[in-house]
Amino acid sequence: MSAADPVAAGDFATVVLDWFERHGRHDLPWQHPATPYRVWISEVMLQQTQVSTVIPYFERFMKRFPDVESLAAASRDEVLVHWAGLGYYARARNLHRCAQVLVSAHDGTFPHGLDDVSALPGIGRSTAGAILSLSRDAPHAILDGNVKRVLARYYAVPGWPGKASVTRRLWALSEAVTPVRRTRDFNQAMMDLGATVCIRRPACQRCPLRSGCRGLAKGDPTLYPGRRPRRQKPLRQTTMLIIQGHGGILLERRPDTGIWAGLWSLPEASGDPEAWAREQLGAEIRLLEDTPTAVRHEFTHFSLDIQPVRAQLMDETVVADNRLLWYNPRSDETPGLPAPVHRLIHQEEPSE
Ligand code: SF4
Repeated sequence: MSAADPVAAGDFATVVLDWFERHGRHDLPWQHPATPYRVWISEVMLQQTQVSTVIPYFERFMKRFPDVESLAAASRDEVLVHWAGLGYYARARNLHRCAQVLVSAHDGTFPHGLDDVSALPGIGRSTAGAILSLSRDAPHAILDGNVKRVLARYYAVPGWPGKASVTRRLWALSEAVTPVRRTRDFNQAMMDLGATVCIRRPACQRCPLRSGCRGLAKGDPTLYPGRRPRRQKPLRQTTMLIIQGHGGILLERRPDTGIWAGLWSLPEASGDPEAWAREQLGAEIRLLEDTPTAVRHEFTHFSLDIQPVRAQLMDETVVADNRLLWYNPRSDETPGLPAPVHRLIHQEEPSE
């Protein structure tokens, strides 16, 4: 840490740890017990999602998959069902793959080395640091979204953290301020500070770091971290068929790659839905008059407008197979459905 930095690394850690004692989060479900497995699942769930949303998902997930072995032995479908609603499904597929690697190559336990953990499927450097520090108190720095925001503001680091040079600078700062003792508490404290104080509109008057914060001293800490350069997201459009028959709605399994890979979805039909049904199902459908409202779903890189079209299957010969499923929305068993598809189906459910 250079002399130009606002406070020495040791002081930074002391201030943050003192604050943690009184204001940090000590009762999160994955902290009791904080095993590497539980920390890992929580960290992956938290990557794009807030704590309050994650907690019920985490608890359901733990009930069904209490350890690495049960997760590795489950079918991918079941893992996706327990993930449905959290989005970013590549995370769930990677969790499943990673559990299988842990069982086959590491006796079902997490390795101790940072590089070994970072080499596992779906685990980056920050998640590896979080798993090892939060579960075993190993002295590894982290750099998740919350920590990036605190450090970028505190040190007034310009630029968008998606840029490699900015990320490198933030990693260097994170390593410099992270203490080798009580790393578990320090990392949890930094995440908590970023989630509860140094938020989008920061509550600087409650922040333990305010006296040394360069972003605040410069007048507007929200200028840090820098924003992603603006880029218009492309808009894609698709038509989805809500085909009623066999006492339910027809679902089709998505291919193994691309959006919503491996999940169940309403069939997409480009062009004429009746021709699609003849070709894909070998059956006739009758389009129904009432057209439901289109829904828009935002992906990171594009927006998707989904226009649903309702139809009735005219002969009941189409049977389910690996690719097709007749789903009764009122049944207790819900297959893994992407959130907008779930919304469309349940909008469509006939009332009693
Ligand atoms: S003083 Fe404000 S901007 Fe600076 S770290 Fe604290 S909350 Fe963030």
